[in-house]
Amino acid sequence: MKSSETSVSLETLVSLCKRRGFVYPAADIYGGINGIYDFGPLGTLLKKNIRKAWLASLENDRGPIVEIEGSLLAPEAVWKASGHVEGFHDPMIDCKNCKHRFRSDDTDFSKGCPSCGKNDFTDIRNFNMMFKTQLGALESAAATCYLRPETAQAIFVNFKNVLTTARVKMPFGIAQAGKAFRNEITPKQFLFRMREFEQMEIEWFCKPETSNDYLTFWIEHRLAFYKAIGINTEKIRIREHEKHELAHYAARCVDVEYNFPFGWKELEGIAHRGAFDLTQHTTHSGKDLAVFDEETRESYMPHVVESSIGVDRLFLTLLFDSYREDEVEGEKRIVLAFAPSIAPITVAFMPLAKKLSEPVEKLYRAVKEAGFTAQIDESGSIGKRYRRQDEIGTPFCVTYDFDSEQDHCVTVRDRDTTKQERIPADQLIDYLKNQMKKERTA
Ligand code: ATP
Repeated sequence: MKSSETSVSLETLVSLCKRRGFVYPAADIYGGINGIYDFGPLGTLLKKNIRKAWLASLENDRGPIVEIEGSLLAPEAVWKASGHVEGFHDPMIDCKNCKHRFRSDDTDFSKGCPSCGKNDFTDIRNFNMMFKTQLGALESAAATCYLRPETAQAIFVNFKNVLTTARVKMPFGIAQAGKAFRNEITPKQFLFRMREFEQMEIEWFCKPETSNDYLTFWIEHRLAFYKAIGINTEKIRIREHEKHELAHYAARCVDVEYNFPFGWKELEGIAHRGAFDLTQHTTHSGKDLAVFDEETRESYMPHVVESSIGVDRLFLTLLFDSYREDEVEGEKRIVLAFAPSIAPITVAFMPLAKKLSEPVEKLYRAVKEAGFTAQIDESGSIGKRYRRQDEIGTPFCVTYDFDSEQDHCVTVRDRDTTKQERIPADQLIDYLKNQMKKERTA
């Protein structure tokens, strides 16, 4: 058997995702909705594991990080203070002939319109990407609110609430995983650019003189996360933003980029935001968000270092990074070589006969109670069942046969090497616990 990285097209992944229940177009039976997706049973498990790994990665030796869950809607005042009402837009251009709309900074117009080829465009206009709505029945300016385009602002707005109620001291972090909404002009590349997506953000609050060092610290810390979840680190790089690229709030910013089949693209942004956000919210709300330093007896506005990553973009990255095609005994197979801690299903039980269902069910229950995700796969030849599990990335398949009744052992088959090992059934949980700690082998 040989197993090596296989480059895979986006179309192949999209169809695998639908076929196996990872991702469906939203409102599929009504023809879908552009840039919005639903996650099926396996996709939901994969997302849970991504969040779990991210939460575990918040542990660090510099200070506590607490998690919050902010609201999805916020009043216009928040987005005025953050700069989003004024500045959160992309440049848009329309083809006058075919009426297609494009992001002018993201499209090659050298051969005319990418859709119809004609060369007849409108002027470039700015398009604000926030979804605006009204709260309640009253159509007044006070009732205007927006679906959040990032999770970060709920963290800044709650900075003082957390500081005074969560028994944390500077420096510390506030983290949040949750939905964000952007009316992207041209959603594309499946989960890469969506209109409704999920972010995992950390805002690290610290003294101004320490913020540069913390930026360096967080870059290293975040890179360790990618290694821990089994991503090929040769496909990850850090790119420092040029001065002209910096967002209005950032003093320094780096992108963590992944080498997708469509090029090196941003997977995560790590930014030194200075005191921008807390100062803005202090000015606009009239509430002082500065903190008092007991040592120097002076107030100061904390600086912020931010890490911001998209759950869905990471989901897509993991699919690209894990996809393999190889051959086992002359038969082609597709494998998603996820790290065991990331795989949606950890173990699939395969009773070799209907009669053996009862002891298998018992083992399955015990493994689930121990916190692993498991499936019982009873239909088809054993080869077929292995292929099915390989394609969804299940790292371990456990077969139970008539000998198991006598020797109380089961056979565990490894997804990547296809090697089989016979182990006592009552040691299966310990075996799985050990395997979960191992790095990806394929
Ligand atoms: P891009 O330049 O790709 O539009 P951005 O710089 O606007 O991204 P940020 O505002 O820094 O992105 O958002 C942080 C992270 O959130 C991104 O690195 C990405 O992982 C994720 N993200 C942003 N926009 C989207 C989107 N439309 N769909 C999916 N994920 C997104």
